[in-house]
Formats: sequence, C-alpha cells, structure tokens
Amino acid sequence: MKKKRCEIVNDSMQALHALAKLMPQLHTQCSLAEMLETINRSLGASLAWVSVNDNDGLHRVVCAGEVACHSFEAADFLAGTLLQRHHRSWRVIYWKENIGRALFPPQHPGYTQLQSGVLCKLSTHDWHCRGYFFLAFDEKLYSLPILKNIVVVLVEKLKDYFEEIIAREKTAQEMQRVVTQYKTLFERAPVLMNSFDKFNRCVLWNAECEKVFGWTMAEIGAHADPLSLFYPDPEERRRVRESVNVSPLKDMYEWHPLRKDGTKLTVLWSNILLPDNSILNIGLDITERKKAEQQLEVKATIDDLTGCFNRSAILQQLELAQSANARQEPNSHFSVLMFDLDFFKQINDEWGHQVGDAALLHFCDCIRELAPSDSALGRVGGEEFLLLLAQTHCHDAAQLSARLHTTLKTKPLRVGEKKLELSFSAGVVEVCGDQFDTSALLTRADKALYDAKRTGRGKTVVAAGYL
Ligand code: GH3
Ligand code: MG
Ligand code: MG
Repeated sequence: MKKKRCEIVNDSMQALHALAKLMPQLHTQCSLAEMLETINRSLGASLAWVSVNDNDGLHRVVCAGEVACHSFEAADFLAGTLLQRHHRSWRVIYWKENIGRALFPPQHPGYTQLQSGVLCKLSTHDWHCRGYFFLAFDEKLYSLPILKNIVVVLVEKLKDYFEEIIAREKTAQEMQRVVTQYKTLFERAPVLMNSFDKFNRCVLWNAECEKVFGWTMAEIGAHADPLSLFYPDPEERRRVRESVNVSPLKDMYEWHPLRKDGTKLTVLWSNILLPDNSILNIGLDITERKKAEQQLEVKATIDDLTGCFNRSAILQQLELAQSANARQEPNSHFSVLMFDLDFFKQINDEWGHQVGDAALLHFCDCIRELAPSDSALGRVGGEEFLLLLAQTHCHDAAQLSARLHTTLKTKPLRVGEKKLELSFSAGVVEVCGDQFDTSALLTRADKALYDAKRTGRGKTVVAAGYL
C-alpha cells in the first residue's frame, strides 16, 4: 500500500494530482505536526520535519512520521559538512538513497529504513536562510526531480504558514509555561488565595485555603452564602462584603473568620482588583503568631511569681485610672492601697527563700480573694504591692486592709506542719477629681506606709485629706 503511494511521486501527473488534493488540507488552523502528517500521508513519506531559525538563533524543529526523529538529529544533520560547504548556493538538495545514514546513528531503525530524501530551504531573504523543510521515503525514488518540484511548490505555499505556526506554537508554549508557573504558585504558595464572583460563588480556592479553613471548594460551592460559613455575624459579613466589593483594599487588614471546626482565626487580607474586574483575595493566616504575641504581651505585664501586674503595668493601670477619673464627673474617685510585708527579711532568713516566695504568692492570693473584680493588684517592689480600687473611698480601702489582716491570721501559710502568719503595713490614699499626678500620689502612699511602719507595723494609715 505504502509502496504504491510513494510511487505517486515518481509520476508527474499523479504527483500534480496529489499536490492539488493536498494543498487545501494545509491551513494554519492545524498544528504543524498535523500538517506534516498530512503531507506524509499524501505523498507516502515516512518522515517530515521543519526546522525554523528562531530570532534568538536557536533551531526549532517539529517532526512527524512513522520514523522517530529527534530535533537534535535534525539539527546535527543540518550542521553537517555537506550542507555547510554549499551554504549559499542551493535551494533544494535530494538524496537518491541512504538518507537514513546521513540522519541517524547506525543503531537507529531509520538508519537503514530511509532511502530517498529531499531538503529544501524555506526561503532565503538577503541570502539568509530562515529554515528547512525535509521529507524522506523508505524507497529509492527514481524520479527525484519531480519530488524536488513538489517540495518547492509545497514550501512556497507553506513557508509563511510554517513561521506563523511555529511562532504561534512558541507563544502557546510560552503561555502554557506561564500558566503552569502561576498555577503552581497559586496551589503551593503558603498564602491564602481565593475569589468569589458577583453571585457569591467561589471561583478560586487554593490548597492553603482548604488547609487553613478546613472547607473544600466543593463544600463551599454547595452553600448558598459561603461567606456566612466564615462570618456567621451578619454585621461582620456586611463589613467584609463592603470592604471587598465596594472598596477593595490593597493594604492588609485583620479579620477573624471561623474555621470549619468553629475556631476563630486571625487572618490578614488584602483584595486585589484584577484587569477583568474580578477580585482576588490574598490572605495570611497569622493566628499562631497573634496568639504568641498576646502571650508575650501578657508575659510582659505580669509578675511571674505572684501572677499580679508587674511594676510598669500597675503604674500604667494607675495612669489609666487617673485619666478615666479626669474624664468622669468631678467627684469621681478611687483609692490606692500600698502594702509592705513586715520583717520579710527575717522570714527569708528563718524559713528560707522558697518559703519567702510562697509567702509572697499567699499574700497576693489573700488580696485577690478580698478585692473587688474591677480592682488591679501589682507588685511594685520585692515585698511591696499596690492595690488600685476603683470608685472606692479611703475608709472602705482601709476596711479592706483590715479584713486582709484578719484573713492572714485565720489563713496562715502552711509550711509542712507549721503555720506562717504574715503581717503587713499599709498606706492608703484617696484620689478625687483630676487634680493629681502619679508620682505625687505614690509619694503620699509611701509616706502613709512609712508612718504605719514607724508607728509599730501591722497597721494601715490613711493619708490625711484628698489628693
Ligand atoms: P520592714 O518591715 O521594714 O519592711 O522589713 P523587711 O525585712 O520586710 O524589709 P527589707 O527591705 O529590709 O527587706 C525586704 C526583703 O524582701 C529583702 C529581700 O530579700 C526580700 N525579698 C525581696 N524580693 C523577694 C522575692 O522575690 N522572694 C523572696 N523570698 N524574698 C524577697
Ligand atoms: Mg520593702
Ligand atoms: Mg518589708
């Protein structure tokens, strides 16, 4: 069958006929490989390839046929000495036989299989060859000039197509490469990326979204209002919608969507308006980081041993109370109780430092038991504490201090079989209105405390007058 077909090329009438039938089948809609297959079929050839010189100096080779030919084999063949020698002077070269030997290494099946062949320059412009068209047959053809003419006609028709198709395929390959790059980036980036269309349908949902939120794209797609899965509160949902649809935000803003398991996340989102007017949401899950920051923040304000505020935090609380007082009515007030444990050095000396530590914690626990929930307790020195009592007059503060004395007596610290009864001295200052400053307040509280120490310890002294 094939032998018969390749004889077409040996008969000029048949060849012309085949060519006339072949031409309409060659159009730019088909790929170059398809085009070469069609040529092979019509003329009974076993191998066809086109090599085009790229602008960047590289050969791009497209092959088709029953004999496999790699682009490097075609390129090596073109670089062969015979072609180089006659570089400028020829348009078409043909081989009566053994073309397989010129093209392939001996172990290649095409080495012995391919006999006749023809190579034609695509077009020469300013003596510059833009590429080659090659056709090879299993048989030795005896009328090669006919083949030569067929090929010249084919190349005349196809030279522009070849370049167009090759350029198109190159662009398509390049596009595919870019698409693959972005797809990989979209799928693998440790960043949340999603997009919803104007009907609230999820059109993009990357792997990171599935990992962080726990919902698959199919689950989201099945929901009438997917946003409500993440933001059950309608008001929050409204704000999210507004931020995305009305004024897409380029900067990153913090939102608190829910995971599938109901846990609250902290996510930084920014919304990018794409050229087709769709919006791409890009997010960063900072839940863990936020938790760590909050823990650090707490750690930075809390005294490790006693669990109450540390010195700077309680002084900050004092300033807050002070400014709140200034904002409120003129007769708003609060009291400050300054405590100092009595003879604490002796406790350390007699009981050991560890018991001293336990005594400090015990002292704070007793205060916490008595103090109202809106009070603030802080450690301002080794065994000195400050209790801030909102909306409290100094006499009520002194009463609380008296109750603390009683508690420490009735509930001494147990150290093994023994009991350690703590005693303290305290100074009270009441603050009314906004006419005071923190250091004056602390000086007064210190002075009252010093008076309590000086006049026998184990007592509470109220600073005379208001600050
Ligand atoms: P006073 O009644 O005059 O207040 O006498 P005091 O012994 O309580 O006062 P002083 O200032 O002489 O001693 C305070 C002691 O508190 C000294 C220090 O070793 C102890 N202290 C401070 N911080 C800690 C702590 O974190 N743990 C323990 N165990 N002891 C502490
Ligand atoms: Mg002290
Ligand atoms: Mg002391």
